[in-house]
Amino acid sequence: MIQEAIEHYLQTSNQSFLSPKAVLFDMDGVLYDSMRFHARSWHETAQHHHLIADRKIFYLYEGRTGASTINELYQKTFHRDATEEEKESIYKEKATLFKKYNDGNPMPGAAEMLAEVKASGLKTFLVTGSGQHSLINKLEHTYPGYFQRENMVTAFDVKYGKPNPEPYLMGLKKAGVKANEAFVVENAPMGVEAAVAAGIFTIAVNTGPLEDDYLLNAGANLLYPDMQTLASDWKNIMEALKNSHSR
Ligand code: CA
Repeated sequence: MIQEAIEHYLQTSNQSFLSPKAVLFDMDGVLYDSMRFHARSWHETAQHHHLIADRKIFYLYEGRTGASTINELYQKTFHRDATEEEKESIYKEKATLFKKYNDGNPMPGAAEMLAEVKASGLKTFLVTGSGQHSLINKLEHTYPGYFQRENMVTAFDVKYGKPNPEPYLMGLKKAGVKANEAFVVENAPMGVEAAVAAGIFTIAVNTGPLEDDYLLNAGANLLYPDMQTLASDWKNIMEALKNSHSR
């Protein structure tokens, strides 16, 4: 399955080989088990402002910047863009609720995955649409030695955000690698879409409530049910890469 995924990537991306030097990790739903708290905070904030939204939509919007999510909700409800003031105050409200609800628990298996990546000689980078200081600042504490400010792309760095390839293109630039020299680990359909549009081999982990098809249709090259399963398969992925080079 891994071999087929690599061949499919090479065919569809017009790359002749895949030689990763870095893994770009998304944060929420990949490194932290935080998506349900985001969904709950967004849902309550939306209800408070009479914005049309069910809880599932926030898993579909996941990866967007806060401002872009708020704008989508305004378009859906009032058929107009949200003003800068609305975006700012509503995002602040959501961020406050998130900080209150979030327990800060790491995603099971993420630490093992980071250790596997490091052992295989690849660097780790963060690419997130999040602007939540409470989690971004916590990364060094949860995963010491993996994510410093210079290897992070956050909501503060980007203009468009996912599903635009911009954050991942920025991640490649920060890592100093080309698209065929990186992997992305993502849990959200729009995050997968962004990574695939950036031309990167994209591994999806379905840690949320959406059906697998959302991630596969977004173009994920490989799909795992959780981070533990991915961590325990990492050596096989590295092995399959070596085999694909020797052909
Ligand atoms: Ca995510």
